[in-house]
Amino acid sequence: MRDDLLIVNGMLLTLSQEATGIIPEGFVRIRDGIIVETGSMGALPRSCSSQLTIDAAGCLVMPGLVNCHNHCAMTLFRGLADDLPLMTWLEQYIFPAEANFVTEEMVYWCTKLAAAEMIMSGTTTVADAYFYEFAAAKALRESGMRAVAGHGIIDFPAPGVADPADNISTVEQFIDEWGADGRISPAVFCHSPYTCGPETLKKAKDLARSKGVDYFIHLAESRSEIDRIRQQYGLSPVEHLHALGVLDSSTVCVHCVWLDERDLDILQKSSVRVVTCPASNMKLASGIAPLSAMLERNIVIGLGTDGCASNNNLDLFWEMDHCAKLHKVSRLDSAVMPAAKVLGMATFKGAAALGLDQFVGRIEAGKKADLILVDFNKPHLTPFYNQDILVYATMGSDVRTVIIDGQLVMRDKEIITFDLAQTMAEVRKLARTVEVG
Ligand SMILES: [Zn+2]
Repeated sequence: MRDDLLIVNGMLLTLSQEATGIIPEGFVRIRDGIIVETGSMGALPRSCSSQLTIDAAGCLVMPGLVNCHNHCAMTLFRGLADDLPLMTWLEQYIFPAEANFVTEEMVYWCTKLAAAEMIMSGTTTVADAYFYEFAAAKALRESGMRAVAGHGIIDFPAPGVADPADNISTVEQFIDEWGADGRISPAVFCHSPYTCGPETLKKAKDLARSKGVDYFIHLAESRSEIDRIRQQYGLSPVEHLHALGVLDSSTVCVHCVWLDERDLDILQKSSVRVVTCPASNMKLASGIAPLSAMLERNIVIGLGTDGCASNNNLDLFWEMDHCAKLHKVSRLDSAVMPAAKVLGMATFKGAAALGLDQFVGRIEAGKKADLILVDFNKPHLTPFYNQDILVYATMGSDVRTVIIDGQLVMRDKEIITFDLAQTMAEVRKLARTVEVG
């Protein structure tokens, strides 16, 4: 039987559990969106034939990156309000901007722009969290990306949900509509413990449980959140959610910056998954998440960019570099957060943080064919000694070709699934209507 796609002559970094290290000249066979076989060129079966063969000479072939937290449509607000603390940024700039300028059309085009930026920098899977999420899911589906699409829930009038009394039923409808799509998995996204009351947090969890989907929430992001929740409930945000019964193995906690020992114990015992967003935490001066303490407790941690209004880009290569260096300097220990650990968080661990590790995150026979070709014929990537260069010197712009679900989504730096020029033009048009402050 013919393969659909054959990649040959590339340096191969599979991140497979069985074969560690790099295959200097390798191949990947792909059929029906699935990886059939990988190995060194010498082991390529002579009888092997394929509809399309890509020569990856000079490129590193590796698993596509997994962005575990994003608010894709916020590309519209990139650079709109910089250099502000979280609560001021959110309450005086972002929430008002969202109330005035977020429409179904805006979410569609700005999510598509985010997809372009992510694809072009090597991200093949994203966990999105926003409103009008059906428009985001449509844009992500058309882009060719794999996504977990979390529909927002918040206790005040939100884009697309004028009356908060309707927020659970709106999300339920969204899950029912998108549940059967193979590449897009719907999810519940409760904004945070300070924007959702206890009843909403519980009802949203009941919905997620009944539908068998993940429950995403921003948690313990800033010191002011800790102060607010303690004042209101006499508990830390983690204790508060734990008391409400919403922390379990299907809950994905984003940020987890401000944690004490009790919080760490709760997160570990409840088997939640965690997403860290170091660039966003740095830019909003929220703090530094205790990653080492969480890793010591075997908590699964993925890496995310957060929305690009607080980052301000969606390049996971950049994020990996930030993550490794931030934790080293904060601990004054260069051995903290080694490159291999961070690379894992952006690939197979990130996939585990999204509950997708049986499908993506490694190049292995039987897994979905989500992989990228990184052009190593570049001065800043010469010479090549080992994969740590992916964390400390590689940039998203070095990605040349992207394959998702066995489909070519970008070839030789050109997106082939949708019209990038049109997408940028539409977002520029939307941006001309935005005023803030
Ligand atoms: Zn976020």
